[in-house]
Amino acid sequence: MTTTETLDVQPTPLALLLLGREADPRSERGVNCPGDLPAPSDPDLVERARTAKAKLGEKVFILGHHYQRDEVIEFADVTGDSFKLARDAAGRPEAEYIVFCGVHFMAESADILTSEAQAVILPDLAAGCSMADMATAEQVAECWDVLTEAGVADVTVPVSYMNSSADIKAFTGRHGGTICTSSNAKRALEWAFAEGGPRQNKVLFLPDQHLGRNTAVRDLGFSPDDCVLYNPHKPNGGLTAEQLRAAKMILWRGHCSVHGRFSLDSVEDVRARIPGVNVLVHPECKHEVVAAADQVGSTEYIIKALDAAPAGSAWAIGTELNLVRRLAKAHPDKQIVFLDKTVCFCSTMNRIDLPHLVWTLESLADGKVVNRIQVDKETEHFAKLALERMLALP
Ligand code: SF4
Repeated sequence: MTTTETLDVQPTPLALLLLGREADPRSERGVNCPGDLPAPSDPDLVERARTAKAKLGEKVFILGHHYQRDEVIEFADVTGDSFKLARDAAGRPEAEYIVFCGVHFMAESADILTSEAQAVILPDLAAGCSMADMATAEQVAECWDVLTEAGVADVTVPVSYMNSSADIKAFTGRHGGTICTSSNAKRALEWAFAEGGPRQNKVLFLPDQHLGRNTAVRDLGFSPDDCVLYNPHKPNGGLTAEQLRAAKMILWRGHCSVHGRFSLDSVEDVRARIPGVNVLVHPECKHEVVAAADQVGSTEYIIKALDAAPAGSAWAIGTELNLVRRLAKAHPDKQIVFLDKTVCFCSTMNRIDLPHLVWTLESLADGKVVNRIQVDKETEHFAKLALERMLALP
């Protein structure tokens, strides 16, 4: 499989779902969003959010993902990436309500890592993740059957990105694999391939092909030809048993619709416009973009790199636009631009807005728990196993 062949993207049903109150029941997000929301034009929204939050006091803990809107981040008790936020939630056992301003899989992870007594709440149940939706439990079970048939399941370790549903995390735990984040993907792959590791020769990387390929090629020195792309929409993933046997990395055909938008053209264009610019991109970007960048790293890495950058330096950042705008505002002494010419928000993250937050907080203050995200016991058990393996990574 050549790199070029892997760059085409598959359509997702997401665009059809964005504006509807009902969502696809097969997806990792919830099915509807009950309740009457305050009007976005209500001039008292900020005051209402403040009042409800003050009324709830220590009972509520609000988590804000880095890609959230400013109007929501303003009310967050902590901000961070999905894994940091799930751990922050676990570190607040006294909070009865964890309001997760992020997307569905993040709220599931927080539910897995918090106690039974804590309710994890997602202000809009339709805030899913298009990447997580690209790997369903049924598709992954079918893939495992294909690997079994090809005689490679016994030597394959699943490594799943944090950006996956609880079902996929549970599959990973059940089959001896680990979860990874964009910060520790290299360590997770090293563990999976290590001598003395559970099995030595193959990784099934779910669901982000780009993070899997970028980590294998950039950090572990694999050739792009060591990677094959498993397409769940094709019989046998579109691969022969020989291809599966020869591959080191079996990459799931998923991608992030936000980071997947950056192209080699955007890198070349910004270098022509801003001489000396440092191009810094997230590893969910396509391999050709990552290969052309000066630096590659997770959202936490990007934030730290800009904090440490000298005044007067210029940066083009390839990640979600809300975060890039906030970073530009926080560092007026540096030139920080968005890598692409067109806007590139995470549209599902953006579903969490002030009206949804106000509705959630006021409902909780009235003693009504809304939009609770609960992972069933068995799924939780195996998903936790995979998360614990990640925490134990060297
Ligand atoms: S930015 Fe991409 S991976 Fe993150 S929640 Fe949005 S669609 Fe999913």
